[in-house]
Amino acid sequence: IKLNNDDLLTLRSLGSGNSGTVSKILHIPTQKTMAKKIIHIELKLVIQTQIIRELKIMHECRSPFIIDFYGAFIDTNNTIVICMEYCNCGSLDKIANICRQFPLPVVKKLAFAILSGLTYLYTTHKILHRDIKPSNVLMTHKGEFKLCDFGVLRELTNSLAVADTFVGTSTYMSPERIQGMNYGIKSDVWLMGLMLLELASGRPVWIDDDDSVLGPEGILDLLQRIVNETPPTIRNKVDPKTGAPYDPDLVRFIDSCLVKDEAKRKLPWELLEQDLFLRGVAEGTFDKEVKAWAKGIRKSHKDT
Ligand code: ADP
Ligand code: MG
Repeated sequence: IKLNNDDLLTLRSLGSGNSGTVSKILHIPTQKTMAKKIIHIELKLVIQTQIIRELKIMHECRSPFIIDFYGAFIDTNNTIVICMEYCNCGSLDKIANICRQFPLPVVKKLAFAILSGLTYLYTTHKILHRDIKPSNVLMTHKGEFKLCDFGVLRELTNSLAVADTFVGTSTYMSPERIQGMNYGIKSDVWLMGLMLLELASGRPVWIDDDDSVLGPEGILDLLQRIVNETPPTIRNKVDPKTGAPYDPDLVRFIDSCLVKDEAKRKLPWELLEQDLFLRGVAEGTFDKEVKAWAKGIRKSHKDT
């Protein structure tokens, strides 16, 4: 689609991150609802053109596990406008505000979608995601999960954060990244493991409830803990929902994502092909249940 600003009607704001804002819009000529991300960035024209060219590569990313990319343009100087598929159940961080602890079938489908998306990006386009976190995974009303904000879009979204060293720091960092080693496909697996642990247990990882806002000292302490402590786990913990231990397949699956030694951590496609936790997902065993859950989430969004 050829996009320009006059054709875009803003409906409402969806949120904002480190360097941009996202809103729900209507593309008038096609009557298509989209999500529009605006990034203000001071760049020379040459670089802007280069970015637009790189964004065009995202057109080629076609997978049910990746957000569709409709197009991008430079608006007035220093503003990049990106239009992508709108997901009507929103991102997982917002969903977690409604349902803190995700049901097991949802976690299974989510894990399967992320691993499939990562495998697609890597094997087809040689792209790493690098920013798996709840706000970058979106859900549709059909209970499908899709990745967004990878590649050049991730770099743009986080570009302002880089200038301010601590802003970009979060609990979503792998030990190897903190230790200055290369970020690889297995680092994406670590991030996914953290996210699944958080969503399956309903509890944040690394941070205690009372100090969720970290000062510089807190951040240094956190980085040390990620590198030095044993990895987070839900093994030998009690599921607050049932009062019983967690599903053994879930525990083992999360543990195999959060192996500290990158060399021993599995690859996305290895987990997809081999892990018993994901058995039945590809065949659609959990689709009905997850779809019903998504419907409930959508309703809660509307009521608020
Ligand atoms: P962050 O990912 O750090 O929260 P972003 O600027 O990438 O910052 O996104 C801001 C918010 O916009 C996200 O938290 C998410 O809830 C929402 N959002 C982003 N993309 C979409 C989309 N395609 N459909 C629906 N909501 C979206
Ligand atoms: Mg994002």
